Amino acid sequence: MAEVTQKLKGKVAIVTGGASGIGEATARLFAQHGARAVVIADIQDEKGRAVAASIPSQICSYVQCDVSDENQVKAMVDWTVQKYGQLDIMFSNAGVVGNSGQKVLDLDLSEFDRVMNVNARGMAACVKHAARAMVDKRVRGSIICTGSIAASRGGAWRTDYIMSKHAVLGLVRSACRQLGEYGIRVNSISPSAVMTPLMISAEPEVSMKALKRYGPQTSLKGITLTVKHLAEAALFLASDDSAFVSGHDLGVDGGLISLPDPMSSL
Ligand code: NAD
Repeated sequence: MAEVTQKLKGKVAIVTGGASGIGEATARLFAQHGARAVVIADIQDEKGRAVAASIPSQICSYVQCDVSDENQVKAMVDWTVQKYGQLDIMFSNAGVVGNSGQKVLDLDLSEFDRVMNVNARGMAACVKHAARAMVDKRVRGSIICTGSIAASRGGAWRTDYIMSKHAVLGLVRSACRQLGEYGIRVNSISPSAVMTPLMISAEPEVSMKALKRYGPQTSLKGITLTVKHLAEAALFLASDDSAFVSGHDLGVDGGLISLPDPMSSL
């Protein structure tokens, strides 16, 4: 078997939402690529610990952290820097999905707050504290946020989720401008629909419809999006392969973004 190139040799990475789905696949890939430490930050303790324990070389730890609570984010980043000396990569990926009934005319603002608290506020806290740790230690780090195809188009539903993902792109573009002087790169990856607990457990029927419709409607045929494709996109943005890429939203959507929204008739 060909030896895996060690694209992250010696690097220290945090992956939020690393107990499941895209985050879990990315934590595993970062470890395979020689990261010195991968810290999984999540609220699902049992799953997070199990993922950390299953990654070889004792490089992976689990830290309980609710990203919507800034104090917890700061404590998690401080713990990482204290234990491993520095932070090179922040994959700010934790997210929740709102319910499909969130249309403007009936917007439930408590549900809106729940989604925005994790997806927008949590993302901002993670970028802020990762950047502070990098600036403090003079690390030319890489920050990657998980956006969505929903970050670049209006929607017929899930208004809060769509707004929260638009906010992620605003954060990435602003942070890229403000942190460039420190050598810190800030980018995002934007998936279309991929089979993860987030997609399946939110509202199974609606989510299965989305998965079925998005697949055939991508311009790229003969391939289905998996969490591995997203982990590979995050690895590209985390590594020196993307040394001059900053402020970029990397769509991992099989060309879907250029087509009409297949969910508009839901
Ligand atoms: P997932 O449910 O498998 O993973 C999300 C993880 O985030 C879970 O482990 C969950 O416990 C964690 N999380 C939720 N709230 C948290 C909080 N307050 N603090 C810390 N961790 C928290 O789903 P996924 O599909 O892997 O989602 C990862 C990211 O991808 C999310 O930001 C999501 O919006 C985005 N995304 C997913 C899809 C898709 O089709 N699955 C499409 C576009 C974007």
